[in-house]
Amino acid sequence: MKKKENALYEKNQMIRVEITDMGTEGEGIGKIDGFPFFIKDTVIGDVVDAKVIKAKKNYAYARLEKVVTPSSFRVEPKCKFARSCGGCQLQAMDYQKQLEFKNNKVKNNLMRIGGFSKELLDSVMEEPVGMEEPFYYRNKAQFPFGYDKEGNIITGFYAGRTHSIISNTDCALGVKENQRILEIILDFMKQEGVSAYREETGEGLMRHVLIRKGFSTGQIMVCLIINGEKIPAVDRLIGRLTQIEGMTGISLSINKERTNVIMGTDIRLLWGKERIEDTIGDLTFTISPLSFFQVNPIQTERIYKQALEYAALTGNETVWDLYCGIGTISLFLARKAKQVYGVEIIPQAIEDAVANADRNRIKNAEFFVGKAEEVLPQKYESEGIYADVIVVDPPRKGCDEECLKTMVQMQPERIVYVSCDSATLARDLSYLCNNGYELKKVRAFDNFPQSGHVETVVLLSKVMVNSRKKKVF
Ligand code: SAH
Repeated sequence: MKKKENALYEKNQMIRVEITDMGTEGEGIGKIDGFPFFIKDTVIGDVVDAKVIKAKKNYAYARLEKVVTPSSFRVEPKCKFARSCGGCQLQAMDYQKQLEFKNNKVKNNLMRIGGFSKELLDSVMEEPVGMEEPFYYRNKAQFPFGYDKEGNIITGFYAGRTHSIISNTDCALGVKENQRILEIILDFMKQEGVSAYREETGEGLMRHVLIRKGFSTGQIMVCLIINGEKIPAVDRLIGRLTQIEGMTGISLSINKERTNVIMGTDIRLLWGKERIEDTIGDLTFTISPLSFFQVNPIQTERIYKQALEYAALTGNETVWDLYCGIGTISLFLARKAKQVYGVEIIPQAIEDAVANADRNRIKNAEFFVGKAEEVLPQKYESEGIYADVIVVDPPRKGCDEECLKTMVQMQPERIVYVSCDSATLARDLSYLCNNGYELKKVRAFDNFPQSGHVETVVLLSKVMVNSRKKKVF
């Protein structure tokens, strides 16, 4: 049985504390006699009054009640919903401080989980790459429809960790056109009596709208996700949406499932084209409503350029691009390599990759559908495939150990690791560096300003045989 007396603090107790550190999600941490409190919406340097919401033996969560003395890094959030909305964790923090926080997050994970020394990291880590305008950077947004307490139709964002919608058509991360598009749809729904979907009952028509914009082409795609077959009087809606500059295609996606998955599998074109185009660097990509495309095109181009620079291609190399999506990195690499092979689990993405290679007249890229941890070992064992350079860009869970093992067996000169989760990155780098590779460069990229996420690009190179400390297998 738990003894209550063990807990130093209890629920609803008020505390006053100075924020001296930050957790991995950007939450502030303050200590009283060494006992840590995790307090969301605070900034390093703040002195705050907070109310304990959950007390454990060795730490507690508290809710910010009042900023007593604001930190010198505290700024006025651009969006008035910054605190309640689940999208942004760091808006109240000065942007340079956000970058420093993210760079430290990468460094701490590499030390704590990866076992790399501070001295090594100080010598290999390059300056983090932030954005000049850390707002309005997202090329894609999905807005849910629902009702407020008075029964009015609303759209906006889910409040942090919930499914209740905060009414807001003016998100500071998205493109400016979003607001007009949303207001046209809300207006139309009210005029025509079109209902919004209710998650609790599974009734109502309009579930979500997906809006995408090609930053360099200006092309806009609107996809309405509905719980039904059609939208009544939809021509009136189309008539108004097509007045927006750049509107390229309006489509429907049918999703009648009671699920959290936003998109249905079926896309029906209502007007214009189903796909829009965008460019990254000098390559053009065709984007369908269902395919994955990086959401921050400005930073993505910088990340790809960095990956290409680390790959140091001269034109003679064979390169494997694992977790290649629609082939974006692969095609960048193909321009400078002899041959590129891409591997990706989603068949649709590989179809797009092949089409994108064609569209850009790239002939030295070939793509395989399957899991990297299956395709690579199988091809290595049956065909003895070879690589001078391997690039990986896995999802948050990182690389499977089978995949890492085969990469080591293939003995490429260089490995470039693009990561969206520095904890799994650290784990994987530790494996690679215990098996014949060394850390050469690490650089953090802020792909999602105002949020706690950070991307990292890493260069590893094969250790010369005579200086290798551990034998490879
Ligand atoms: N490099 C691409 C995509 C990166 S996102 C880009 O920059 O756009 C990670 C990709 O890995 C996704 O497309 C996802 O579908 C794919 N993926 C996830 N698990 C995989 C696995 N086990 N093997 C291969 N691909 C996988």
